[in-house]
Amino acid sequence: MNIDEIFDFTSFTIDREPHIVLDPQVCVNCDNRGCTNSCPARCYTWSEEEKKMTFVHDGCLECGTCYVVCHRNAFTRWRYPRGGFGVAYRMT
Ligand code: SF4
Repeated sequence: MNIDEIFDFTSFTIDREPHIVLDPQVCVNCDNRGCTNSCPARCYTWSEEEKKMTFVHDGCLECGTCYVVCHRNAFTRWRYPRGGFGVAYRMT
């Protein structure tokens, strides 16, 4: 089973309260923004024109990569979703 097939069987229960929150000003001053390249769900988008980081938690796979690669500690909150929310992996 390849990664696309795995995602086809993945579902999300979205919590209105995000489980990851960034201080966007920290991202403006970051020198590599590794989250934009390492997040497998592409939750992070950097706009060079606007000098702005956008983060959408809806598709977060809860892998923890962004927490590890962020050497600026841009998170004002990083935790797993509350019980009953977040990603649900299903195997066929
Ligand atoms: Fe992306 Fe993983 Fe961070 Fe979720 S935990 S935002 S999937 S890098």
